[in-house]
Amino acid sequence: MTAHQAEAIIDLDAFRANIAALQACAPTSALMTVVKADAYGHGMAPMARAARQAGSAWLGVATIDEALAVRRAGDTGDVLCWLAAPGADFASPIDAGIHVTASSVDQLAEILAAPSSSRPKVQVKVDTGLSRNGALGEQWSRLVEAAAAAQSAGAAEITGVWSHLACADQPEHPANDAQEAVFVAAVAELAAAGVQPALRHLSNSAATLVRPSSHFDLVRVGIASYGIRPDPGMTYTTELTPVMTLQGRLAAVKRVPAGAGVSYGHQWTADRETTLGLVPLGYGEGIARTASNRAEVGFAGGRVPMRGVVCMDQFVVDLGDAAARRGDVVTLFGPGADGEPLAEDWASAAGTIAYEVVTRLGGRIHRTYRGDA
Ligand SMILES: *Cc1c(COP(=O)(O)O)cnc(C)c1O
Repeated sequence: MTAHQAEAIIDLDAFRANIAALQACAPTSALMTVVKADAYGHGMAPMARAARQAGSAWLGVATIDEALAVRRAGDTGDVLCWLAAPGADFASPIDAGIHVTASSVDQLAEILAAPSSSRPKVQVKVDTGLSRNGALGEQWSRLVEAAAAAQSAGAAEITGVWSHLACADQPEHPANDAQEAVFVAAVAELAAAGVQPALRHLSNSAATLVRPSSHFDLVRVGIASYGIRPDPGMTYTTELTPVMTLQGRLAAVKRVPAGAGVSYGHQWTADRETTLGLVPLGYGEGIARTASNRAEVGFAGGRVPMRGVVCMDQFVVDLGDAAARRGDVVTLFGPGADGEPLAEDWASAAGTIAYEVVTRLGGRIHRTYRGDA
C-alpha cells in the first residue's frame, strides 16, 4: 500500500533499461536523453542522474532555465538547450558549459554578444520542414555564413548541426524522406563553408526506433525513454517499459442507491445500487477533465470506470459490488502488469497524446523513486 494519497511511482530500473534498449537501436550514434518539462513529468533531477547511469552521453532540454537546473542538480556532462526568446540570458549557460542552439543569424549574434567568460559552444539548427524553430532556406545560408565567420574568428565552437522531424511517428509519411534530404543538403552547405561539427542529429524517439537512416551522429530520445510509445500505432521490436505508475488511495468509499447523481452537473447517474470510490487526484494534479466519464483505473487486478466529471482535487470511480475500503489503492495508469490502463489509454480517453498525459502531471502528486543507485 502506498503511503501517499496521490503518488507517482517512478521505476528508474525500467528507465535505464529503456535507455539501453534505445541505444541498441542506434549503436553507432551518441544518445541524448531529453529531460525537458521536468523529464516529461517524471522529475528532472533523478531522471537526469539515472540517464547518465544508463550511459546517456547527452542530456537535452528546451530552455536555458532547464539547462541551468540540470547543472544545479549536479550534472557536469554535455547538455544541449534549444528554445530561447530574444533577450535570453545566454551568458549563464555558456559559462556553465552548456551547448546552446542558434536558430537564426540574430540568435547567433545574441549568443556571441553574451557577456560570458568562456567561448560559447553552439549548435546550429536548420528548419527542414517542421516550420517551427531553425533557419529556413535562404536564412539557413545566412546562418551558415555567420557560423563559419564566428568559428574562424574563434568566437564560437560549432559543436553540432541539427533539425527536428514532423512525422517520424508515421514512418511511411513522405515528409520523413523529404526532411532527411534537406538535412543532408544543409549539412553539406555548412561543410562547404568550412564548418564540420562532430554532431549531426535529426532523430527523436520515433526515428530512433524505426528510421536508422536518420540516426546520424546522435539520437535525441524523450518519450520512449519513459517507456511510452511515440504513437500507439507504431510497430517495432524494441521492448520499452512504462516508467511511471500513478496511484491514488481511495479517500471515501460509499454505497449509493440507483438514481444517485455523481459529481458536478450529475453527468452520470447510477442505474443500480453500486459502490463508489473517491480518488484524490483531479485537474489540479493534471488529470485531464476531458477524460471525464471515459477513463478507467486499475483496481484489484481489473479495471473500473470513472463516473461523472473530473473535479479540481478528485474524481469518482464505480467499484460495482467489489469489496472496497477507504485507503484501497487504485492505479490510474502504469506498465499494465496488474491489468491497469496505460498512459496511452488515458490519452485516448482524454482526446490527447500520452506525452501530454504524463507531462502535465504535477500539483499535489508525491513522486517516489524505485531503483535509485
Ligand atoms: C522534445 C524533443 C525531442 C524528444 O522527442 P520525443 O518524441 O519525446 O522523443 C527531441 N528533440 C527535440 C528538439 C525536442 O523538442
